[in-house]
Amino acid sequence: MYYLGVDLGGTTIKVGLVNESYQIIQSVSGPTGRERSFEEVLKDMAMLCKEVMQMEGITEKEIHSIGIGSPGIASPNEGVILSSSNLNFDHVNVRHEIQKYIDADVYVENDANCAALGEVICGAAKGEDNVIVVTLGTGVGGGIVNRGKINRGSFFGAGEIGHQVICYDNGLKCGCGRKGCWEQYASATALIRQAQAAVEAHPESKILELAKEGKAENINAKVVFDAAQAGDQVADDVLQGYFKYIACGVTNLINILEPSMIVLGGGMSAQKEYLTNPVTKYVQEEMYGGLSLKTKIKAATLGNDAGIIGAALLGTTL
Ligand SMILES: [Zn+2]
Repeated sequence: MYYLGVDLGGTTIKVGLVNESYQIIQSVSGPTGRERSFEEVLKDMAMLCKEVMQMEGITEKEIHSIGIGSPGIASPNEGVILSSSNLNFDHVNVRHEIQKYIDADVYVENDANCAALGEVICGAAKGEDNVIVVTLGTGVGGGIVNRGKINRGSFFGAGEIGHQVICYDNGLKCGCGRKGCWEQYASATALIRQAQAAVEAHPESKILELAKEGKAENINAKVVFDAAQAGDQVADDVLQGYFKYIACGVTNLINILEPSMIVLGGGMSAQKEYLTNPVTKYVQEEMYGGLSLKTKIKAATLGNDAGIIGAALLGTTL
């Protein structure tokens, strides 16, 4: 049996064929063209699914199900994307559209939830009962997985952990409409902003030296980590502050849900223990009543594959 996983992004549709060992054995992608009607976008998606099956000589009968990860809010069991600001999809019955072309079960789910599911099924959190996956990227996303099932809340909107407020007074404005959201302090975007402010005050920092063309606008997360590892004090100060912001939100999550593991994913997960060790240290310092930290904090291991694998296996978890 095989599983089809789709990552429906604002610019690209990626489709992966996943085997029973949870490996992506074949993949294809195409442009989303999000200005088009949902019928056209979903027809292209169905054709990409057919293409990837043909590449491996697999028929519809050998497909367990198709899972689609999408930004926004989705109702998995009905196969409906309820809303997605990135795609202009409003109450679109994705299952119905895809089944015009392919005879298979179709499920949809929020993309961050898919990535979380992937890490729980075969990534960093394999075998863990109670997991929160935090995605540190352009924003801060997340997924809460309990005993192999995604916690979707009552209206499919749970897991928006990036929008917990960590700075109530004079907090930075967030795209969600609130101020002081965790995402404004702990995302990769936030780290870059913090580093840019630091090099303005300390132009001698190695951060600028390592940034492409020595320009502040070319600073990325890796440059800040590299500068710190090369002994740059300014970079280290920026990172310690950034780790404390991450630790603040992680501690909140532990206080509320006490997961057995928190996985730090997104682009930042490439830093592995350079990320998880200091965050663990700062979380321990903030633990309730000084209790010892039992929740493990690990870096994600599947990288960009997590979303596709999680989407592909969605049909096995509902
Ligand atoms: Zn927010």
